[in-house]
Amino acid sequence: MIAEKKRLEENLAGLESSPKKLDREYQTAFSEIERDEEANADEMEMYESNVATDETLKNELKKVKAALSAMEKGTYGFCENCQKEIPLERLRAYPQADTCLDCLPR
Ligand SMILES: [Zn+2]
Repeated sequence: MIAEKKRLEENLAGLESSPKKLDREYQTAFSEIERDEEANADEMEMYESNVATDETLKNELKKVKAALSAMEKGTYGFCENCQKEIPLERLRAYPQADTCLDCLPR
């Protein structure tokens, strides 16, 4: 269990130090679109989904940081909502999880 947490901690630390790992699939010509006042509908759509991605990324990073500080305090791995222990399976798949599957917003 301790070794497992250590491994997750390393994963999280990696994500924190290089957020690019989180968004490597979402590289686009962001600044090009921003400069174009007359952006057409397609570009606007792209722009909007890019903003959403950026927000998601910030959110994920926030979770990563929260998970790291929870590890320091020894409160890592507990659901923020129901305070139950988050199953290790879930933490393996998604180390920055802050809720159990039952409490996932749908
Ligand atoms: Zn829960």
